[in-house]
Amino acid sequence: MQLNPHYAELNESYLFSTIAHKVADYQKAHPDADIIRLGIGDVTLPLAASVTRAMHDAVEEQAHKETFHGYIPSEQGYGFLREAIRDYYADHGVTLDLSEIFISDGAKSDLGNLLDLFSQDNTVLVPDPVYPVYVDDNVMAGRKILYLPANAENNFLPMPDAAPHADIVYLCSPNNPTGATYTVEQLKAWVRWAKQNDALILFDAAYECFVTEPGLARSIYEVEGAKEVAVEVCSFSKIAGFTGTRCGYTVVPQDIRQGNLSLNKMWLRRQTTKFNGVAYVVQRGAAAVFTPEGMREIRENLDYYRKNAAVIAQALDEMGIWYCGGKNSPYIWLRCPNQMDSWAFFDWLLENANVVGTPGEGFGACGQGYFRLTAFGDADRTKEAAQRIKAALAKL
Ligand code: PLP
Repeated sequence: MQLNPHYAELNESYLFSTIAHKVADYQKAHPDADIIRLGIGDVTLPLAASVTRAMHDAVEEQAHKETFHGYIPSEQGYGFLREAIRDYYADHGVTLDLSEIFISDGAKSDLGNLLDLFSQDNTVLVPDPVYPVYVDDNVMAGRKILYLPANAENNFLPMPDAAPHADIVYLCSPNNPTGATYTVEQLKAWVRWAKQNDALILFDAAYECFVTEPGLARSIYEVEGAKEVAVEVCSFSKIAGFTGTRCGYTVVPQDIRQGNLSLNKMWLRRQTTKFNGVAYVVQRGAAAVFTPEGMREIRENLDYYRKNAAVIAQALDEMGIWYCGGKNSPYIWLRCPNQMDSWAFFDWLLENANVVGTPGEGFGACGQGYFRLTAFGDADRTKEAAQRIKAALAKL
């Protein structure tokens, strides 16, 4: 037996445990402090009523011999859910074939599992800062990783003119942690680059539901020809609060081929071998998201988070703090005042406002000097946090 030596190359993920320790220490020293947490990217509103109703009904079906569902007929997902996703994309002008949609237990699993399909010799290009999972997935596999700096100069939206050659590039839009969102025009340049470099784009659309401004992309497939070079990973976690319920989907187009290998067929083969599908009850709940009633309820929830983002953004505007995100994203990415580094600002904010956020450097070296606040909190607590942040900044 030989262990995978690449696990020793992983950086320990100290970010959220360090935050938890710092907050616990502060609370111990200040037992009366009323700490508001705007750090973690988890949702707080419950599942929509349509979703839980559909899940209750599905549980009832599972309780009777006549309506019971055993193994899922297709590991790729039930037709009713894949059809609903196909129609959702059609509403945004994107045509998908049902065979291109694969239901999963969430974006995180697929982001890791998809790498099974690519040679270990591939070089990957990862924006910095970004969702840390992309880096760790590739370190575990022993792949060479190049970084693509995202910074204030490129509005945290790195473009391919500054990109080295790579075989796989990760694009996350709307971005975690910066909230920056590519336009369809900007993604055209990435699709062109992928074709020129014989590269694949792994497009993470987990936050697409937050896009409201015209011209911004909700899917990479809004770009013509993207189906030849891009796989899109998406999730019910943020659109419908499925972080604990677990459901997502990945689009693997039929047009991505090399010699006689088809990426779609490879993924189907991989999934049918290593995955037995997502629970019937969960798939029923996910499908309810796309009913008119479900969509109405979900929009209300998204608006709730959007209002939180606007409250935080307004406080920062009033105090003259630079930030991006918050409009088409639940994340607000701010430049730490007085040239504080990310952890110094974390400590300062905890001390002076009793508010917890996430230091930007936890998402990559280029995140140094920046800070992420999330709009996923309770509305009243977010208002209170915004007031406290303003009051603290005023004294700086
Ligand atoms: N992709 C991004 C960019 C995320 O921020 C997250 C979770 O925060 C995920 C994927 C994971 O989504 P899921 O809950 O579907 O695994």
